[in-house]
Amino acid sequence: MKAMVLESLADVSTNPSPLRWLSIDEPSLNPGEILLRVTRCGVCHTELDEIEGRTPPPRLPVVLGHQVVGTVEGIQSRETSKSTVQIGQRVGVAWIASACRHCEYCRSGQENLCAEFQATGRDINGGYAEYMKVRADFVHPIPHSISSSEAAPLLCAGAVGYRSLRLCSLRDGQSLGLMGFGGSNHLVLKVAKYKYPKSNIFVFSRNASEREFALSLGAAWAGAIDQNPPEELDAVIDTTPVWGPISEAMKGLKPGGRLVINAIRKEELDKDVLLKLDYPSQLWMEKEIKSVANVTRVDVREFLQLAAEANIKPEFQEYELKDANQALTELKQGKIRGSKVLRI
Ligand SMILES: [Zn+2]
Ligand SMILES: [Zn+2]
Repeated sequence: MKAMVLESLADVSTNPSPLRWLSIDEPSLNPGEILLRVTRCGVCHTELDEIEGRTPPPRLPVVLGHQVVGTVEGIQSRETSKSTVQIGQRVGVAWIASACRHCEYCRSGQENLCAEFQATGRDINGGYAEYMKVRADFVHPIPHSISSSEAAPLLCAGAVGYRSLRLCSLRDGQSLGLMGFGGSNHLVLKVAKYKYPKSNIFVFSRNASEREFALSLGAAWAGAIDQNPPEELDAVIDTTPVWGPISEAMKGLKPGGRLVINAIRKEELDKDVLLKLDYPSQLWMEKEIKSVANVTRVDVREFLQLAAEANIKPEFQEYELKDANQALTELKQGKIRGSKVLRI
């Protein structure tokens, strides 16, 4: 089968072609696994973190991609009668590829924090390929009203965005800030407008076209990262790869407000801004900082249902699988409008 393969780590700003277009063996199934014929795979900023070594794959070569939509072509069931997945069914695979299911986290609905958490497209081969294999109990049926291209970005950008919004503990009418406006936060804006119709949403972005895009989707205000919003914010979700926005967000929070960081890793570039945090204005008054780690299967399934019910669809651009390097380079350069999806 054809796949775009990561053979060695690279800096995407100096190497615009970190993945190679190769023919590799089709995966062979172990008990409990299914074979997917991949049709779409979303491109996520986390792939840049993997390629550039901030969250490196444990083994190379590896096939990246964790927003996978495909058709079930093979089932190697432990107990056939127990499997709810059918041949020919359209399913999605998200960042969570497996967890132990026995630890305190797995037993309390926090499998995203499991020490044995395995990620799709990092710890196992992902969806930048014609086929992938995955555990049958870690796939998600895609609602009929959502096309495969629309479903791909919902599986990470959407589902992790949904988890980030949940962690904000917002009430309807409270104000929400979004730092960065790419694949994830543009979906968070749509979800927030549906769940919290009385809330105003304020978008901060480094580039003017993203700010315009945010206003066109119903943001109450859009400004640069260091601009003051017209009112103090109850919660902010940060999806940027750097630290400056954290400092800015903490200035704009209300007493008791919460900043939720939706990023698996931050770049080191401007980390020194943290040394300049001003305790009275940026941290005191019970302001909180919380990160989002991974995603649970419940997050993904709840979000797919909500997306179908509220008709939440991502804005996306499509690329052929062999053009994955181009999609990743554009993502690195900040050329973003909505989400990027590979067609396979
Ligand atoms: Zn992702
Ligand atoms: Zn566990």
